[in-house]
Amino acid sequence: MIVVLVETDAKGLTTVSREALTFARELGSRSSSAVEAVLVGTPSSETLGSLGEQGVVKVHVAEDDRLSSYAAAAWAAAVCDTVGSTAADVVIAAGTPRGMEVLAHVATRLDVAMAANVTEVTSASDDELLVRRQVVGGAALEEMRLGDPVRVIGVAGHACDPVAAATPATTEVVTFAPTLTERDLVARVVRVEASEADDTGALTSARVVVGAGRGAGGPDGFADLLELTSLVGGALGVSRVVTSLGWRPHSEQVGQTGSRIAPEIYIACGISGAIQHWAGCQSAKTILAVNTDAEAPMVTKAHYAVIGDLHEIVPAVNAELKSRLGR
Ligand code: FAD
Repeated sequence: MIVVLVETDAKGLTTVSREALTFARELGSRSSSAVEAVLVGTPSSETLGSLGEQGVVKVHVAEDDRLSSYAAAAWAAAVCDTVGSTAADVVIAAGTPRGMEVLAHVATRLDVAMAANVTEVTSASDDELLVRRQVVGGAALEEMRLGDPVRVIGVAGHACDPVAAATPATTEVVTFAPTLTERDLVARVVRVEASEADDTGALTSARVVVGAGRGAGGPDGFADLLELTSLVGGALGVSRVVTSLGWRPHSEQVGQTGSRIAPEIYIACGISGAIQHWAGCQSAKTILAVNTDAEAPMVTKAHYAVIGDLHEIVPAVNAELKSRLGR
């Protein structure tokens, strides 16, 4: 039995949770294991619809008033209870900050190893799973053997596409009260404050991302890049230099310590392409670099490059786009 911890947002099941379910289903088909979900809080009809699309026959719903705000240890208690009631031998979650935190608690409680940032299961037998996972910010891949009675896996973002099951299911809801202690609730969310401009979701799901680095030149150097972003209907992503200098908010940062993106096209302007930035953008299907330095790593790794000053190139591209779009 495989149990998947799923997360929801205002729109229902998150895309990365659907990826984790697809990942689990693929593993389940190889080991003839059923896939069930566990979630904290009452699922909406949209969430149940998405679970059904993913072929999930049963969702274990943890209900307790004390779970109204997120507490990693309490969520882990709910997952461990589900592992106990289903006799699951694999626990999977999306590699979100929350998913990773809960899985770390789960692995500790069960006294088993946890594999984070897993991109694929290379082989599966009754004795062990051999998984491939990203390390060093995605710059290297490592193989890890999971031979414990319960295998705990955090799936790397975009490790697979969220594909609907060939046979959709009507998901049965099984509510339960997890076994919680006061200690499970010591570290919990007590307040949520929206940041001034937190649109991380738009960045991670955008089909086109316009990237901006130190080459933008300063906090006032983004007007043309923002116009390009709007003309292509995309999102702006920036390097850490840009956020560290306070030119743009951290929610726009791409990289090891920012968001990981996987757009159809990434237009990286004035970004050198340091390994920590590359960790966040390497999954882009096509990369176009705009840089004054023909030897910059971003240029040498990109599919296409324009060598020159972004403050000349981007306005010219915008003018051409506007004329073609009749604006
Ligand atoms: P630079 O490296 O200074 O490059 C600027 C580029 O712009 C150069 O290639 C230059 O040729 C070009 N340029 C200059 N002027 C122009 C112009 N007018 N037109 C066109 N091109 C121009 N970085 C991240 O981005 N994301 C992360 O998540 C991240 N996490 C990190 C975590 C750790 C633990 C550490 C140590 C570092 C991390 N970094 C991260 C920082 C990273 O190492 C680099 O310092 C950073 O990515 C560089 O940003 P940049 O490319 O904008 O600046």
